Order: sequence, then structure tokens, then C-alpha cells
Amino acid sequence: MDKKTITQMDQSENKKLHDSCNILVVDDEPILRNLLTDVLKKEKYKVCSLPMAEEAVKRVSNGNDVNIIITDIKMKGMDGIELLRRVKQINRGIDVIVMTGYASLETAIESMKLGAIDYLTKPLNIDQIRLIVNKTFERRMLQKMADEASFYKELSRIDGMTELFNHRFFQQLLKIEVARAKREKTLVSLIMIDIDNFKIFNDKNGHPMGDLALKKLSWLLSQNSREGDFIARYGGEEFSIILPGADKKSAQFLADRIRKTVAQSAFECEEVLPGGKFTISMGVAEYPTDAGNREELIEKADKALYKAKDNGKNRVEVYSEED
Ligand code: GH3
Ligand code: MG
Ligand code: MG
Repeated sequence: MDKKTITQMDQSENKKLHDSCNILVVDDEPILRNLLTDVLKKEKYKVCSLPMAEEAVKRVSNGNDVNIIITDIKMKGMDGIELLRRVKQINRGIDVIVMTGYASLETAIESMKLGAIDYLTKPLNIDQIRLIVNKTFERRMLQKMADEASFYKELSRIDGMTELFNHRFFQQLLKIEVARAKREKTLVSLIMIDIDNFKIFNDKNGHPMGDLALKKLSWLLSQNSREGDFIARYGGEEFSIILPGADKKSAQFLADRIRKTVAQSAFECEEVLPGGKFTISMGVAEYPTDAGNREELIEKADKALYKAKDNGKNRVEVYSEED
């Protein structure tokens, strides 16, 4: 649902939506409490009311069913300002609308500074109540949609198991970095990584243990690379690191540091592997020295990786023309 649909939604649909919002009215005057409750119920909101701020704090502390609170400022016992303060401490996501007389607008402003979303002036006007509450509700809906959109956007970039960038996003990042290097006449290095003898690890320990090792390796990769480098899960048990601006000598240095860290780290059930250690092999290539574009850069780093496997695994190889 986008912004256009919510504003274009017809009244009956809007009212159905209102039903998902719980409003709590807090006022020690029964007449005002009932007026607000009636008006908002007609708008199809779910409304309940309380005569004291202390009870409202209790209600909010006990659960998360309240979305909007409309409170009077002057009340016997705890006042509306204190209620606002307490509610915001318990749950910042609750929107608080305060009610104040024309003569005390400064109090309304003070409340807004403390986090109130809006205010109603007394004597209450039915149109104003509708307008302000509907506006608050709509703002909540838009915020929720924006949060969901950014959640899904993030989800589309991240590999669920390892929490590293996924293959698709890796390709996009590499495209951007190669284009930048071309434009700014700088370098990009690429490290391709493949776990050694992972099939044996899986066959002997089972797939779930293999997944656990993949997660541990991903964590080690994140912990041991530099800020500004991009780490991705390239595929099953293959990973890649993009190093913007780095030459292959510094990429090789970083790769070898990671390789050593992995070899020295304890992986559960690694004793089943040849040599008894969980290790990785890595290949390094550099744009534009080794490759003219993104695809070629991957190909060359992959070639160096095969060389690392051929030369006995648990090693880093850098691409060179003679390969
Ligand atoms: P090499 O040292 O030459 O790389 O040998 P290898 O055994 O690692 O390579 P191979 O390509 O033969 O096997 C890779 C294995 O990785 C096979 C597959 O079951 C495993 N694998 C790929 N993705 C996953 C995954 O998500 N979870 C688990 N547990 N295993 C995976
Ligand atoms: Mg492989
Ligand atoms: Mg492998």
C-alpha cells in the first residue's frame, strides 16, 4: 500500500482500518471523556477511557495494545505532562495528543517539545477532534509503511543465513565500484573465497553443522575486514570481498590475514577434515590491471582461486598474466 492509496482510500475502507487502532482517552471530567469516546467510536476507532493518569501509566506498562493517547493536561493527581513523559519512557511508539485551553497554549507547546504529536484546544470542537486524530492515525500508517518498505528493501540485499550481502546485491555493488574506478581512474580489488573440503565436512557432520560453520565463517569475515569493504555470500560455500580503491597487494595482505584467522579459529567438528582444520582458499584480482570489466574481474579472481586449490588449498593466490 503506498501513500497514494491511503489518501485515496474511500471512507468505508478507512473506517475498517481505524478499527485496528486503539485509542485511550484520559480525562477526569466524565462529560469530555464521553464526548471524545463517542466521536471517535463513530469514526470506527477502538476507544477506551480512564479518569486518571496513574491508571493510564499502568495500562501502558502492562501491554502494547494502546496506539494513541488523548489526555487532558490539568487533572487531579498526575497531570497530562507527567503522563506524556512516562508514556514516552515506556513506549516511544505511542502517539500522545494533549488537550488544553486557549489560555494555556504554552503548555501545549511545552508538551510538543516533550514529544506530544499534536494538541486539541478546549472547548473541544468535533471537527477538530476528527481532523487531528485522523491525521495522527494517517501519519502512523505512513510511518509503518515506510518502515516495512525499508525492511523489505534491506531483506532483498541480505542473505538470510549469513547476514552478508547476497549475490544479486554483490553484482550491483561491483558494477558501481568498477564504474567508479573507471571514472576516477582508481582501482578495485576482488577477493573470491571458497571453503576447503566442505563436502566432506557436510557429509561427515550433516548439513545443519555445515550451516553453523558457514555462519561462523561469515562472522569472522565481517570481523576481519576493513570498513568500506563489501562482503557477500557469492553462492553456497563461496564468498567474495570487494575492496574499493585497493590494489591487489593490499588485497592479498588482507586475504592472507583472514585466511590465517580462519585456520586458527576453532570450528565445531572440524577434526573430520583433512589436516583436522577448517580452512579456506582465496583468489585475488584487480581492476583495471587484470580485467576490463566486472565479469572479467570475477573470472580472474576465480582463476586465482582455482590456482589456490590446485596448489594445495588453505592459501591465497593473486592472478597473474601467466595463469
Ligand atoms: P574444495 O576444497 O575443492 O572447494 O571442495 P569442496 O568439497 O568444498 O567443494 P564442492 O564444490 O565439491 O562442495 C561444496 C559443498 O558445499 C557441497 C554443498 O553441499 C555444500 N554447500 C553449499 N551450500 C551450502 C549450504 O548452504 N549449507 C551447507 N551446509 N552446505 C552447503
Ligand atoms: Mg565451491
Ligand atoms: Mg569448497
